[in-house]
Formats: sequence, C-alpha cells, structure tokens
Amino acid sequence: MAIQTINPATNEIIKTFEAHTAEQVEEKLKAADEAFRQWKKTSFGERARLMNRCAEILEQDAEKYGRIITLEMGKPIKDSIAEVQKCAKVCRYYAEHAAEFLKDEEVESGASRSLIAYEPLGVVLAVMPWNFPFWQVFRFLAPALMAGNVGVLKHASNVPQCALAIEEIIHKAGFPKDVFHTLLVESKAVDAIIENPIVKAVTLTGSEGAGSKVAEKAGSEIKKTVLELGGSDPFIILEDADLEEASTVAVKSRMVNTGQSCIAAKRFIVVEGIANAFLEKMKEKMQALKTGNPLTDNCDYGPLARKDLAEELEEQVQQSVKKGAKVVLEGGREGKDSAYFKPMIIQDPKPGSPAYEDELFGPVAIVFVVKDETEAIRIANDHRYGLAGTVFTGNKERGLRIARQVETGAMFVNAMVASSPEMPFGGIKKSGYGRELSYIGIREFTNQKSIWVG
Ligand code: NDP
Repeated sequence: MAIQTINPATNEIIKTFEAHTAEQVEEKLKAADEAFRQWKKTSFGERARLMNRCAEILEQDAEKYGRIITLEMGKPIKDSIAEVQKCAKVCRYYAEHAAEFLKDEEVESGASRSLIAYEPLGVVLAVMPWNFPFWQVFRFLAPALMAGNVGVLKHASNVPQCALAIEEIIHKAGFPKDVFHTLLVESKAVDAIIENPIVKAVTLTGSEGAGSKVAEKAGSEIKKTVLELGGSDPFIILEDADLEEASTVAVKSRMVNTGQSCIAAKRFIVVEGIANAFLEKMKEKMQALKTGNPLTDNCDYGPLARKDLAEELEEQVQQSVKKGAKVVLEGGREGKDSAYFKPMIIQDPKPGSPAYEDELFGPVAIVFVVKDETEAIRIANDHRYGLAGTVFTGNKERGLRIARQVETGAMFVNAMVASSPEMPFGGIKKSGYGRELSYIGIREFTNQKSIWVG
C-alpha cells in the first residue's frame, strides 16, 4: 500500500510520501539503540517532566492534531479532538505512576534479600492501525518511554501525517531526539525490522492476519510480542434491563468511530420478551444519526477510513444476507466510489456467514434474539474473538455473574466498553494476548528480573 494521505470524505489524494529506505531505517534503529543507553539511566522524575510536557502540547494543540486525524481517516472532528485529549491523559497517568509501578518488589525467600526489579528492554517496535491513529500510539508510547524503553513506529500507510505529527510532539516536548522515531515503511518492510537485532520486542494493534504474521516472525527471532487484534464484542440485553438506557448505549457503542473500533459492540444479543421493543428503540436512534463533512461539528459519523474498507464491509453484509440474515434497518454504501456507509441492522446471521464468524468493522449492528440468559451466554462465547463485552440488566449481581461467564478480556455491566489508563486492556482467543495500560501494561516490555542476595 502506498504511504499516502487520502481524504476518505472526498477521495482526494492530499499527499504521497516516499518510504524510508532500508539504509535510513538502519540509521534510525542504530540511533535509537544509542539513545537507549542514556535514556535507561534517566530518573523517573526526569521522564515524568518530559511526559507531562508532552501532555501539555497535546492539550494545547488538540484541534490542530485533531484536524490531521480527521483529514486522514475521516472520523468526526469532535471525536478526533477528544482522542488527542485522551492521549494527554495517558501521558499524565504514566508520568504520575510509572515509578510506583516499576519500583523494586522485595520478596520473602531463603535469601538474605531477594527482589524483583523491572528493567527496560531497549528498542520496541510498534505496528499500529489507522482507527485511533493517536491513541493507539500513545497507549504504547507513554508507558514504554516511562519504563526507560525507546520506540520506533510503523504506522498504517494511510495515516503518515499522524505518524509524523507524533514524532514532532515527542521532540517538541524535549525528549532526546532518538528515543522515538517514525519509520515511514510499508508492511513488507516489517519482517526485516523485526529481524534486526537492535529491535527487542514488538507490539501490534490491527487485524488478526497482520498480528499472526508479525507474531510468526517475532517468534522465529525469540522476541516478545503484545497483540491487540480484532473483536466481535457481544452486548447482552436481559429482560430486566432499562431499555431506554440500553438502546442509547448500544447505538453509541456500535457507532463509536463510525463503527471502526475493536471494542465497539458488534453483536447485540437480546432475550425474546423485549427484543421488539429494544429493536424499535435501536432503529430509531440509529436513524437519527447525522452524517456529512467530518470536519464540521454537526456530524455524528463520517466516511470509513478507506474506500476499500467500505467495499469489504459491503461484501460481508451481502454474503451474510445471502446466507440468511434478515435486514432490519436498510443502509449500506452510498455509491460505488464512496467510503460513506449508512448504518444498518441485520438479524440472526447463520453460522458460516461473515456476520456470524468475522468482525464487521463499520456501522452494521448484528442482532441475535435468544430464549434466555443461558442462550445469550452461549451465543456470546460462540466466536473466535474474545476482546470485551457488555451486559445490561437491572440486577448488578446478575450482571457480575454473567460477566464472569463470558470469554473475553473485559466485561462491562450496564456500560459501554471503553479503555481507561487504570484498567488493563487486551483480549483472549484470536483477539490477541498481553495487556496494555494499568500497571500490567507498563510491565509487559520490561525484564522482570529476580535478584537474589545470598
Ligand atoms: P491491518 O491489520 O492490515 O493494519 C494494521 C497495521 O498492521 C498497519 O500498520 C499495517 O500496515 C500493518 N500490517 C498489515 N499487514 C502486515 C504484515 N503482514 N506485516 C507487518 N505489518 C502489517 O488492518 P487494515 O487496515 O487492512 O484493516 C483491515 C481490518 O483489520 C479491519 O477491517 C478490521 O477488521 C481490522 N482492524 C482492527 C483494528 C483494531 O483496532 N483491532 C484496527 C485496524 C484494523 P499497512 O497499513 O502499511 O498495511
């Protein structure tokens, strides 16, 4: 894929970038490795000072950076600005807590003293996607730098200006120049970067296919990986749920980022007694959403990030309908050259069809009507992904009990799935492994070293 900014709202090619050559990549990796030797010796206080400065820049220039996000991947401008502000939060969070998360842990043993020390690994490669082009990077970068690691970024080919803006922010904040570099490379260049002995570990957020390829290469090099991959999150609505609230949250959760979020609710599993009432509310709320130019304020959803993604989604829906899914709310692509996709609801897709088996990465809600709680849990778990999920019920204890039975990395009772710095984030099954955020995330790329004093 060419490294290009194409405005998905207009299909206009805004700018094309030359990929870095293998020699340029090598130079940047060597510089990063060199920087690591000094960076790992800096104090938590010094790292925190720079990280807080980074947060200030993100807050001050949220609108400027938000416009770049919207231009490159089409999300409504208010959401882009909120994304940049959320990045500032994660920077401040790790600035405040890294020292405490990584302090030596004294352990009782047969030794006169024994402890676990958390030491940085070195250069970490991040392969990142376009859907939250700032957040996905800062979610990795803030803990990585605070832990004393250094980072190189291979961002998705359709968001090069975001990738360069992030590099600019890090440098503006006053971090040593080589502790972070953007590598403008296509995905075919990634294998060689993983093979390079300078790179010590890899984190990837993206599709299952990309995750599998990157993990295979990293595995062959015995390098640690963290993978945040796809999801088809269940959203269970039980008969005792507040339907007004549940339908509002359902639509919000399906439509977040124009439906292009790994943790968007994708499968709505509703018990039969309330199914019609819930569906009516959901339809009404979906139909009320406005689209338009994502750079304007009164736009609820924009185009998908690329035209080919809209084509792929259209194909998945057509295949699912052909195999028996019912269309409850009409929608779909707005013309053959358009990346805009009007929200849809489809019901009861059959096993073997894309809506049942795969991830629909766009504004299509999949509804299952089930007999009871037991069947709801069975359908929720009948998927190869296990990222997160929601259950709506009037009884919090019941919600908690069900949350423990759904096979995912996170469950939310009466709330929309969202990431926050305090809680670990990541999946099980084909949604990946490892965790980001919280004290668990910052320890992923550390050497958890046992020190024994006899
Ligand atoms: P990809 O998974 O292909 O892209 C994510 C990142 O991985 C990009 O930086 C991409 O680079 C890189 N990449 C892709 N293939 C390889 C490879 N073989 N080796 C190394 N790096 C690679 O996502 P797409 O943009 O193609 O989107 C397709 C689908 O992926 C979506 O419809 C959705 O289902 C899922 N997805 C999930 C996301 C999530 O948050 N979990 C985020 C984005 C997508 P490049 O852009 O240069 O190809």
